[in-house]
Amino acid sequence: MDILPLSRVLKSLGRPVLAVPLAAALFSGCATTNSADTPDTRSANPRTLASLALPVDQQACYDRDREPFTPLVDAHFHPRPFGGAAIPPQKLHAMLESQGVRFVNYFGIGQILEMDSGCSYYLDCPGVTAMPSIKNDFVNGMETVAYPSDNLHITLSMTFMDLAHPDNIVELIELYDREYPGMFSWSGELNVMKQALLKNNHEPATLESIDQWAPFMAVLEERGIPVTLHSDLGNDANPTQFLPLMKHVLETYPDNKIVWAHMGLSKELSHMNPRQHVAIMKELLDSYPHLMLDISWDVLYNEYHQWGDIYVPFLNEYSTRILPGTDFVAAGYKPDDQYAKELDVTSRVLKVLDDQAFQNIALGDNFFRLMELDYHAPTVCPAGINR
Ligand SMILES: [Zn+2]
Repeated sequence: MDILPLSRVLKSLGRPVLAVPLAAALFSGCATTNSADTPDTRSANPRTLASLALPVDQQACYDRDREPFTPLVDAHFHPRPFGGAAIPPQKLHAMLESQGVRFVNYFGIGQILEMDSGCSYYLDCPGVTAMPSIKNDFVNGMETVAYPSDNLHITLSMTFMDLAHPDNIVELIELYDREYPGMFSWSGELNVMKQALLKNNHEPATLESIDQWAPFMAVLEERGIPVTLHSDLGNDANPTQFLPLMKHVLETYPDNKIVWAHMGLSKELSHMNPRQHVAIMKELLDSYPHLMLDISWDVLYNEYHQWGDIYVPFLNEYSTRILPGTDFVAAGYKPDDQYAKELDVTSRVLKVLDDQAFQNIALGDNFFRLMELDYHAPTVCPAGINR
């Protein structure tokens, strides 16, 4: 006799599945895991964008047992691929909205593979150059205007910056100001050091080139524009090999709103001692009050899922400094349910956070504060009310 998982039995009965805050299940997940065991309450999510503009006391409290554990914010999302066809914009909006996402950052993608290469993913095409470009940002700007959505708040991001060659960045920001006045309010994801892209002729930033960022970092700081940086912490041979680069960025630009993508982790750094990693993150967060971390990318959850007893207390303690995201790349060839799967994997840790951390990270408090947006995260219902 087949024994159905409890969650599936409850789902078949039409009842929501209880969130189980067990420390053992924690940072868990893998990219191939199907989300069939999780309640699909997202498609009919009553938390509309308009509802989040209401003052907190006019919003219903958030019932974590009955409402999704996935976040209202995807702060790390690539609406266009490295090359080839993207998911069409209306389908993309519907995909995000159906998953309960109400706020999304449009990160290019900034690096475009050579136009005549026929490539759509960089790892499939070693030797083909991927260069930072304005192309996808401009398409994203056009499509956001052409396909407005009143249930999805899209933050456009400048992703063209070449951090190894920063000379013309301010000039190009002026081009954006002329062509898309006031529309781009984020920057990144920009690559300081991305080892996975080295075979595609990615030129990492250096201590010298970081010093040359000053003019454009001043523009971002003055405008309050956050910048998301992909900066590999290191690799399994030397887990902190590239830490001096990020430290130099933070020392040189302590007043900029800097978001460190993936907490510096990557496929190349899959076996770092989690205590050492968390200690480095804490030290930098304590030293640089404008630094935030993004916990996007299913790779993190595949590689570090067994370390929930270390990461969950860390995320709870530093919950005002964390942003959620999928790092989904919207290539046209992806199956329709791929986004839901990646959102599921990258959200599992949110399920086991404490209520305050869940409100800060998943329900948008941190994002609204960082962006100074006039939206309000609902408060989590006290235990005992439907819990
Ligand atoms: Zn990314």
